[in-house]
Amino acid sequence: MLKGIAASSGIVMGKIYKLIEPEIKFRDTSLGVEQELEIIEKGFEKTVADIEKVKVKASANLSEEELAIFDAHLMMVQDPEFKGQIVELIKAGNNAENATKTVSEQMIAMFLAMDNDYFKERAADIKDVSYRLICNLIGVEIPDLSSIEEEVIVAAYDLTPSDTAQLNKKYTLGFVTEIGGRTSHSAIMARSLEIPAVVGVTDLLKTVNHNDYVVLDALSGELLINPSEAEIAAKKAKQLKYNEEKELLKVLINAKSETLDGHEVELACNIGTVKDVEGAINNGAEGIGLYRTEFLYMDSTTDFPDEDTQFEAYKAVLEKMPNKKVVVRTLDIGGDKTLEYFKFPEEMNPFLGYRAIRLCLDRTDIFRTQLRALLRASTYGKLCIMFPMIATVEEFLSAKKIFNEEKEKLVAQNVAVSDHIELGMMVEIPAAAILADQFAKHADFFSIGTNDLIQYSMAADRMSEKVAYLYQPLNPSILRLIKLTIDGAHKHGKWVGMCGEMAGDILACPLLLGMGLDEFSMSASSILATRKLIRSLSKKDMEVLAEQALNMSSAEEVLKLVKKD
Ligand code: PEP
Ligand code: MG
Repeated sequence: MLKGIAASSGIVMGKIYKLIEPEIKFRDTSLGVEQELEIIEKGFEKTVADIEKVKVKASANLSEEELAIFDAHLMMVQDPEFKGQIVELIKAGNNAENATKTVSEQMIAMFLAMDNDYFKERAADIKDVSYRLICNLIGVEIPDLSSIEEEVIVAAYDLTPSDTAQLNKKYTLGFVTEIGGRTSHSAIMARSLEIPAVVGVTDLLKTVNHNDYVVLDALSGELLINPSEAEIAAKKAKQLKYNEEKELLKVLINAKSETLDGHEVELACNIGTVKDVEGAINNGAEGIGLYRTEFLYMDSTTDFPDEDTQFEAYKAVLEKMPNKKVVVRTLDIGGDKTLEYFKFPEEMNPFLGYRAIRLCLDRTDIFRTQLRALLRASTYGKLCIMFPMIATVEEFLSAKKIFNEEKEKLVAQNVAVSDHIELGMMVEIPAAAILADQFAKHADFFSIGTNDLIQYSMAADRMSEKVAYLYQPLNPSILRLIKLTIDGAHKHGKWVGMCGEMAGDILACPLLLGMGLDEFSMSASSILATRKLIRSLSKKDMEVLAEQALNMSSAEEVLKLVKKD
């Protein structure tokens, strides 16, 4: 049995699909012009056939627009110019794969140098197509998540956001990764997609084989490899109980999130893409408390998404949530979230470096485009905008100033914009929590980002399993920072939400309620269980409990208090 961190709850059993990047070894020599020409010919044939096959398979899940990518790839691989140049290099003595590599690198560089989005997209097509062609020439299999056609549990070192987006929910029973923690982005995506997942499993890829039968218990964070009949039976019983409980929670979809003594809070959902809104609605979300727009930027492979692309995405989310608050976070890139088309500076500590609002206030062109798209979308619903990683009041005021400038420009151009956009900020840097009463004079609301707030307060990397023991949401120091934030906001009549994973933590919920948190935003799958808990608690009692916790000296003591043991 292997142990990891339960990242997205559920219990599933099935065959392993091991996702490993193929090892590509280029040959040094040529087998002679004739043989190499034969190899390249076959390589092209197989590549065309593969792309056609992937397209047919993908057509069940993707829209016409999304399928167009395969046509672009087919056009590229059948382009006589591309093939002609490779053939020329083979005739000059190169082997098939080296010739392909050289030609594709030259073409990519040429397209990237052009100041035109269409050609930049073509560079990405060449990269994809030549990778497929080279793998075929060398005879290695490309793992392809979107082409999985049977129910599997995916095992990987890590899953990037684009890997996770490719996962077909119909066939992906669950996934397990070697690295990551509860707040790593693969874990967050798994919860959005409601796919059971265990992350941070040391030695996973060394131990598990393709097609092994496993039980993935994403409640306890266990992976049983080739288990006995008795083990399977025990897990099936646990699975049944879990699924029954989940089903029972559905009666609460339209219920109020209200305590026994009549105190109401808002339970909202965190989303990464427009598609996630469905899960939010199905789980009774009362709003969107965090729309992580960086996925929109990470989906693009060649350049920042343009204003219209962004406008359509924001409009779609707002339209799907009529009369409900939608909190959109402006670009939070950097740290572990990088972009294919943007070079970040080399830094010793990227998590403490040039990222999020820091980058946006420097590259105001990128920031202004996003704000314009948001302003244009604002008439389609109840939009709230928040800025990530705010450390100083000056940063917040600068961001607000740029927002107002863009608003005035649009108004001057007779573009309709809402007059009721709330402008808030994430509180995820301890400095902002400590000075919350000052920030609250300027911000309409706060959303506490505990994923980062804990990492920065405890100086413990949220991605590292080695220091996971320091990642303590219940540490009284963290609770005090949260209390300072809530009190600071309430002093000026502002509301406070929490969109870090702690908001959906059943053990933390009574304390957050007691400290006066107004909005809890979490993964879709945590909403109903949280609502059930809130409806069973008294706000008055939780105030007393929170007061006790705030005066304790360790996370362990607080844990005992909330577990009542
Ligand atoms: C956070 O830091 O708590 C947060 C919600 O943002 P992210 O996980 O995207 O950093
Ligand atoms: Mg954060």
